[in-house]
Amino acid sequence: MSLLIVGTMAFDALETPFGKVDRIIGGSGTYAAWAASNFVQPIKQVSIVGGDFPQEEISALEARGVAMEGVEVVKDGKSFFWSGRYHLDMNTRDTLVTDLNVLAQFDPKIPDSYQGAEFVMLGNLAPDIQKKVLQQLKKRPKFIILDTMNFWMDVALDGLKEVLKMVDLLMVNDSEARQLGGEHSLVKSARKIQAMGPKCVIIKKGEHGALLFYEDRIFSAPALPLEDVFDPTGAGDTFAGGFIGYLARINDVSFEHMKAAVIVGSAMASYCVEKFGPTRLKEITAADIDSRVNDFVTLANFEVR
Ligand code: AMP
Repeated sequence: MSLLIVGTMAFDALETPFGKVDRIIGGSGTYAAWAASNFVQPIKQVSIVGGDFPQEEISALEARGVAMEGVEVVKDGKSFFWSGRYHLDMNTRDTLVTDLNVLAQFDPKIPDSYQGAEFVMLGNLAPDIQKKVLQQLKKRPKFIILDTMNFWMDVALDGLKEVLKMVDLLMVNDSEARQLGGEHSLVKSARKIQAMGPKCVIIKKGEHGALLFYEDRIFSAPALPLEDVFDPTGAGDTFAGGFIGYLARINDVSFEHMKAAVIVGSAMASYCVEKFGPTRLKEITAADIDSRVNDFVTLANFEVR
């Protein structure tokens, strides 16, 4: 099965209680592609970068089966740049800088070779850009997931509601779910969001795991209690990439498989946070992923007699 991913490919500057980096590779599309490529290839990447984006990063992704035909390179432009500083709890962060650069002119064009993708991940971008991607797909994909953030709820709520009608699953964190659903209860908020279009909602709760709402069923996934979280950047995109990559590999979007996909996404995210940027994602093997998934199974396994 093939997977189409739309998201940023960027430079990030990060500060965590454990250190500081000035300019490393980041972007929602980058994290998602690294995570998903463990499960499914080819991946059809859609993004925009400047002439400053390193060729070796593009080549490394290509070697992982990530097609770059849909990644526009603006030779004399600068790539999207984002800078953030994490608080001591690592759950909250301040955005210090957002330089859109070439992202300001992003008008995604879906190449013919990308048509027919069965699975689609719409990374966190302006809702009208997400919509433009879907409008160009000649055949309705089997499963579309949407990532978004509070910023778009504040400035583009109508556009976001339009895209919500076109997708199968929305992925947000707990505060965003409360904002969009308008209820303090995550269950009530999820139900309200489902009524806006997507039959599934995933609510990420950081170090407290994730909830999957699938029609009228609910699955609660734990988060692995990690001794050290080094850099949480990209954990959400990595979760999304692992989740949809796994679903695309087994080509089944039933509740049972989606529960497993949530665990796989959580396992990928738990690796992501171990080092700065996507570094750790580039190192891990299939055996590492299996072992981490097993840790989750053990963690949540119990019997009541
Ligand atoms: P996450 O930690 O999962 O929220 O994702 C962080 C990644 O998202 C970073 O690598 C950034 O480059 C990228 N990013 C940050 N802000 C935005 C934005 N406004 N639009 C698109 N991508 C962003």
